[in-house]
Amino acid sequence: MSARGYSELPVGPVILDAGNSRLLKTGAWRTINRPVFKEENCSQCLLCWLFCPDMAVRVEDGKVVGFDYEYCKGCGVCAQECPGKKGQKAIAMEEEKK
Ligand code: SF4
Ligand code: SF4
Repeated sequence: MSARGYSELPVGPVILDAGNSRLLKTGAWRTINRPVFKEENCSQCLLCWLFCPDMAVRVEDGKVVGFDYEYCKGCGVCAQECPGKKGQKAIAMEEEKK
């Protein structure tokens, strides 16, 4: 085996092009839980959209409509921050089903 400097090593699994986050399907390595939207308890405060680290909360016409599971990592931040309505949360973390 020949000795090689670090600068000669092949580039690791890195996408160098700008705007590449769409190519990284972070939902592929989601935790065992996924968020489930309960529209009837939603006050449309958009806190879940604000806090989601992966922009995986789907918003249409200014309203939350669900989640993009191709990018959702199942971190649960949205469910933690969701104030819901009348003491009922609008996001529940549920175990992933096959
Ligand atoms: S579980 Fe995490 S990644 Fe998925 S939508 Fe909620 S905040 Fe975003
Ligand atoms: S944080 Fe909860 S109540 Fe607010 S928009 Fe998201 S799901 Fe609805």
